[in-house]
Amino acid sequence: MKLVFATHNQNKLKEIQALVPDHIQLISLQDIGCTEAIPETADTLQGNAKLKADYVTNNYNLPCFADDTGLFVDALNGEPGIYTARYAGAESGADANVKKLLENLLDKKNRAAHFSTYIALNIEGETLLFEGSAEGVITKKKKGENGFGYDPIFKPAGHDRTFAELPLATKNKMSHRAKAFTKLIAFLNKTNTNI
Ligand code: IMP
Repeated sequence: MKLVFATHNQNKLKEIQALVPDHIQLISLQDIGCTEAIPETADTLQGNAKLKADYVTNNYNLPCFADDTGLFVDALNGEPGIYTARYAGAESGADANVKKLLENLLDKKNRAAHFSTYIALNIEGETLLFEGSAEGVITKKKKGENGFGYDPIFKPAGHDRTFAELPLATKNKMSHRAKAFTKLIAFLNKTNTNI
């Protein structure tokens, strides 16, 4: 069966393809010719993941899953949340986002935060959700070169190094995204679908 992963990132696609059962062939947005911007207008991660998966299934008539991730900082009432990718503005990159977050936390004692990932899977007429989260704290300075996004300032609970200081393989075993994908893959492995 063909299953769309609503991503343009071929590396992400290959990584997940290696983990799904052989009868499932993952294909990307590029593979189905979906080049338009998919609306992400919901006010929650799960809402946006669902919008993306449902959009592809409804417009391309294929089962699809989509993921959405955010960073939620306790002292900032859950900011940046759904705005994680564009915290410092629509065109902002990781450096500007990290700088803004550190500035907003300058006078805060509580540095607790968590990453959350939701995956929405639209299959056989229904949309299922899978969630994964990683608890931690926001450091005062950037540390480490690995990873991406907020990794240099996120220290996961139980570790004394940031995600960017940990080997990528270590982060990828414990991350919010890994936990959500593990649940999706377990579901796909036990589902004997004929689509
Ligand atoms: P996306 O939904 O996977 O595109 O993630 C949204 C934004 O969250 C990204 O642009 C990153 O800034 C941030 N982000 C997601 N996952 C991670 C992570 O594992 N480490 C650090 N930042 C992340």
